[in-house]
Amino acid sequence: MAKQQFEAESKRLLDLMINSIYSKREVFLRELISNASDAIDKMYYLALTDDSITFDQSDYYIRIDVDKEKRQLTVTDTGIGMTKEELASNLGVIAKSGSLAFKNENEIKDGHDIIGQFGVGFYAAFMVADHVTVHSRAHGEEQAYQWYSEGAEGFTIEPCEKESVGTTITLKIKENADEEDFDQFLEPSHLQSIIKKYSDFIRYPIKMELSEQKLKADSDDEYETVIEEKTVNSMVPIWKKNKSELTDDDYIQFYQEKHYGFDQPLNHIHISVDGNIRYQAILYIPETAPYDYYSAEYEKGLELYSSGVLIMNKAPELLPDYFSFVKGLVDSEDLSLNISREMLQHDRQLKLIEKNLTRKIKQELLKMLRNDREKYEKFFEAFGRQLKFGVYNDFGQHKETLKDLLLFYSSTEKKLVTLKEYVERMKEGQDSIFYATGETNARIERLPQTELVQEKGYEILYLTDDIDEFAIKMLVDYDEKTFKSVSSGDLNLVDDQDEESVELTDEEQALFNKMKEILKDKVTDVRRSKRLKSHPVCLTNEGEISIEMEKVLSMMPD
Ligand code: ADP
Ligand code: MG
Repeated sequence: MAKQQFEAESKRLLDLMINSIYSKREVFLRELISNASDAIDKMYYLALTDDSITFDQSDYYIRIDVDKEKRQLTVTDTGIGMTKEELASNLGVIAKSGSLAFKNENEIKDGHDIIGQFGVGFYAAFMVADHVTVHSRAHGEEQAYQWYSEGAEGFTIEPCEKESVGTTITLKIKENADEEDFDQFLEPSHLQSIIKKYSDFIRYPIKMELSEQKLKADSDDEYETVIEEKTVNSMVPIWKKNKSELTDDDYIQFYQEKHYGFDQPLNHIHISVDGNIRYQAILYIPETAPYDYYSAEYEKGLELYSSGVLIMNKAPELLPDYFSFVKGLVDSEDLSLNISREMLQHDRQLKLIEKNLTRKIKQELLKMLRNDREKYEKFFEAFGRQLKFGVYNDFGQHKETLKDLLLFYSSTEKKLVTLKEYVERMKEGQDSIFYATGETNARIERLPQTELVQEKGYEILYLTDDIDEFAIKMLVDYDEKTFKSVSSGDLNLVDDQDEESVELTDEEQALFNKMKEILKDKVTDVRRSKRLKSHPVCLTNEGEISIEMEKVLSMMPD
């Protein structure tokens, strides 16, 4: 049988792909398994419309076998198979997807979902194999065919024997080369872990023979190695299940299985959207911040799946920075498996999902704030700083989203309060939200500047975090009430006289002039104040930058 040539572009593409598309070799298995799953899905679709086919779930499975001696790895499925023509066109032309064509022809829009649509996944096999043989018998055909290829040079097709409908793909695994360990792909337990990682939620059983140490019958200390066929994948992912079937414990267990964190999540959000873009998501709000959370090392992101197949461990595009603490995953049937990181950044669907998730996270936090204040305060202790950074960053673009999630310590309530609560308690005629900055609540309490404001019965928010005042300045106001530092020149308190209108005696004037002369580089003015009670003197502020902010700014690297 004459060797057919891959098309010229295909040849170049194949080389390129084998060496660059996939960051890890192990994903070849994910690709072959997803093709096998697609092939079974196609049988399922046929059965839906053709009464002569019965779809008995137990007849459909994927098998992985290893022959270490021959360095062979095979992936077998009982799916729809390929005809001679299909072998030539689907496996012979790169970037041609039989699965995409099948979807289009059958106008499949929902239900079980076929993963393939790019037409490059199959070639990932050449990342680990010297040559690949495909035996396939198509549904409705008696004759089976064998496709064989050593890579970019082309392929051959010839008739072969195959008892049942379906496809077997045999890889001749490469020999170990310097620093490249290919033997691992012949190790059942390693293959099992790869399947768990990428293909745990493939809807059909993935079977494998695995050895296990078992106690010998009628012995309690002698073990023997038994080889047993096992289903490796768990098939139905938790996010595809109905919320009503799941308990809080199920979600917590999943959080731990996934190693999202060592803590217990404070909350989970389970989302299922069936609109313009379809996706499911499970999100968690952790209880404690990871040790590196407020450092440049921390990487935000959610796991991204396409129809149950993992395509990315951390897709940062799915979360805004101010919610970077959220853990979890998104699974969408509308994303393709082979999507690359560069493409993701421009993906419109991903942006839509991000917007939607952001809204849900906000709703969930507001709900927690309303219904479980203690829990919310715990959350705020861990991640409140990030929300305040969110208000400050991007020129306050996100302040509308975040302002109701902020908490500050209140001088009158002696606990954390929201801005809304502050405004609701404001005195008649009060037009500003007062705040004071300092290192600790105790220090702020002793500031001369807070004295008069306190005495007149006004509530003051104590800002003790570096970022606080920057965030407040970015907010400008809340509910049309402007923020005002108790250190600012004009407090405009009710029944407070204009400080400067008080006549000074000549003696006082002379004293003030003298003080100004001595302090000339340090202050802009020296004034008499009615603000002071028990303190003889205090500093006030005229400009936009407060004394506290200046301290923070001067500590920042240039
Ligand atoms: P994609 O899955 O994105 O379509 P692939 O390169 O993974 O691209 O596969 C190319 C095509 O080969 C598939 O669309 C499908 O038509 C066919 N194919 C691959 N593997 C199998 C299989 N196990 N059974 C039936 N058809 C298959
Ligand atoms: Mg594929």
